[in-house]
Amino acid sequence: MTGRHDNGAADISDLAGIGSKTAPLFRDLGIGSARALLEYLPFRYDDLRFATPATRLGEGGGEENAVGTVIGVKERRVRDLEIVEARLVDDDGSPFTAKWIGRRRFVYGRFHEGMRLFVRGRAERSFAGPTVNVAQYAQLAPGQQYRGEMIPVYRASKDLATRKIAAVVRKNLSRLLDLAPDDPLPRSIARQRKYPTLREAYRSVHAPEEPEEAQRARERFVFAEFLTLASAAQLRRADRERDRRARALRVPPSLLDEFAAALPFALTGAQRRAIREIWDDMTRDVPMNRLLQGDVGSGKTLIAAAAVLLAARNGMQSALMAPTEILASQHAGKLAPLLLPFGIGLEAVFGSQGTKARNAAVAKLASGQAAVAVGTHALLTEGIDFDRLGLAIIDEQHRFGVEQRARLRAKGTSPHTLHMTATPIPRTLAQSIYADLDLSIVDELPPGRTPIETFAVRASRLERAYAFVARNVELGHQAYIVAPAIEEGETALTSAVAEFDRLRTEVFPRLRLGLLHGRLSGREKDDVMGRFGRGEIDVLVSTTVVEVGVDVPNASVMVVLDAQRYGLAQLHQLRGRVGRGAAQSFCVLVYPDDGEETERLEVLTKSNDGFLIAEEDLRLRGPGEFAGTAQSGAAELRVADLVRDIEIYRDAKAAAETIVARDPKLADPDHAGLRAVLERQPSTRALLVSS
Ligand code: ADP
Ligand code: MG
Repeated sequence: MTGRHDNGAADISDLAGIGSKTAPLFRDLGIGSARALLEYLPFRYDDLRFATPATRLGEGGGEENAVGTVIGVKERRVRDLEIVEARLVDDDGSPFTAKWIGRRRFVYGRFHEGMRLFVRGRAERSFAGPTVNVAQYAQLAPGQQYRGEMIPVYRASKDLATRKIAAVVRKNLSRLLDLAPDDPLPRSIARQRKYPTLREAYRSVHAPEEPEEAQRARERFVFAEFLTLASAAQLRRADRERDRRARALRVPPSLLDEFAAALPFALTGAQRRAIREIWDDMTRDVPMNRLLQGDVGSGKTLIAAAAVLLAARNGMQSALMAPTEILASQHAGKLAPLLLPFGIGLEAVFGSQGTKARNAAVAKLASGQAAVAVGTHALLTEGIDFDRLGLAIIDEQHRFGVEQRARLRAKGTSPHTLHMTATPIPRTLAQSIYADLDLSIVDELPPGRTPIETFAVRASRLERAYAFVARNVELGHQAYIVAPAIEEGETALTSAVAEFDRLRTEVFPRLRLGLLHGRLSGREKDDVMGRFGRGEIDVLVSTTVVEVGVDVPNASVMVVLDAQRYGLAQLHQLRGRVGRGAAQSFCVLVYPDDGEETERLEVLTKSNDGFLIAEEDLRLRGPGEFAGTAQSGAAELRVADLVRDIEIYRDAKAAAETIVARDPKLADPDHAGLRAVLERQPSTRALLVSS
């Protein structure tokens, strides 16, 4: 076993066909070892097995292959452009044309009558018969029977073509196959599903004889990846279910009515449902691990307050951790009045806080005198201890690492944990990437909100958008202008600093402008946000630090420059900064004149439903782009795709549940491969090392 690993580490330069020049090119693609090359799977194939008869060329739609003998050539040059048209007849005697057009194709003067050729490319039909626009070709010997293959296509780079990668794989294939890594797929499952062995699967993806064979092998890899992902989640879930040290809280029968009575408005149905789900979890001695997902403005703060209330009624403390000071202080500001009627006191813990304030907070939390701590990661500091921490709430959970979240929980004894996010993620995706969390979705906005009107405009109309901003400011409102980068030169994109200077001096010389970006200190940020919140700034120019949770009800216009840079879900979040007050709010998405962004941005102009937008984002960009996926196992998926392969995921998840239920330590020899793979993952290692 160990010997095998050593071989796998064999350097890429040890392989046949790789020299000192090409080795770095492979490394640039992340292929540093022989095994990494084995694991570098093609993403598609060119099917060169069959030549299409000339009479049927152009029917297929995609690229097609043809074989024939040249009967005439027409060629000309226009500057360095070569235009070569060869007339051919196929083996049945039917004519077709092969056409090369382009620079540096090196085909001028190359073909002559009687030559036998293989050509591949997009075919089209006209009155003159079928024409293949040649992408690849090969010369065949006279009378040579054509026998083509499936050609794997690898993700390549500018300097390293897929052909080169394919050639190296082909040359070294048998050696590479001996380096197959641990196989997470139990033999029993592989047999039951009639999957090939791992070795066979690698051979089949790199050198398939037919598409079905490659497809079947790919499915095996997809299944194995999902099985690993789902087993990891299942192990964490099982581990939590075994932990009976959480405090089982009692819910007084009238508590929800009491809570609702203290609010100036009625709870939405979705809020009631989420509160019920959370409270139900908290009545168990198994620690809650729930994700509360809801669009901006859906009223999650209030749900968090209900969880805090239940904890406090049972004599337990709560801690709420948010990723930035702005967000944390806003949470504190919103939670305090909700909790005040119940006599629940709140302490803030921020990095920028003075020693005196910090010491006072620390003392009250340690003694249990304060029921709630709200803060940033400063809460994780050593020396901040709780008397009885029963509830940990983590806002924008994907902005914290696994380890930071664990550190907050470690301040109590198996506290109930509530994660919150304002990034709507489609339910299917959320359930798979956060498989060890239970899910509560707030899919209903409080009544009476006027939808934000959204426009997508080209950059050449920017000045008109700014005139619109000025008009709204004259009406007494405020505006955000979001630019992507901080300083000029970082990227070609509009920079917040440069745009700020231009706006201040040229565009809005009479308005009060503020600048907010991530390089300001916490104190500077708070100062700017504070002034914007008090209405002392008319237009806030900002990077995306303003993205999450910031709440200034008087702001009614949001302009996003270079909107093409962002995912729809992120734009939707940015847009959520406005529309928080009574006034009609607007969002203007600015994209480059030469951009083809309209279709994508249209989605936002038509919908205000975060979940619908997320579905669309998922369809257009795939799951990798979702905030939070990088923090979860989904980032480790190399072959599988949570959208395309969702059916396989369901299947693999069911298998993982059975495995973990029957063999929670993965001690069965048939689970040894799965165990080995999971032992290498930090989040599951500790769960498997026997205690
Ligand atoms: P989120 O954190 O989900 O973005 P908040 O909790 O900040 O949303 O709530 C947004 C606004 O909606 C707040 O001003 C809050 O007071 C208000 N709100 C929350 N729930 C309701 C409700 N059921 N009816 C009316 N307004 C509500
Ligand atoms: Mg909020």
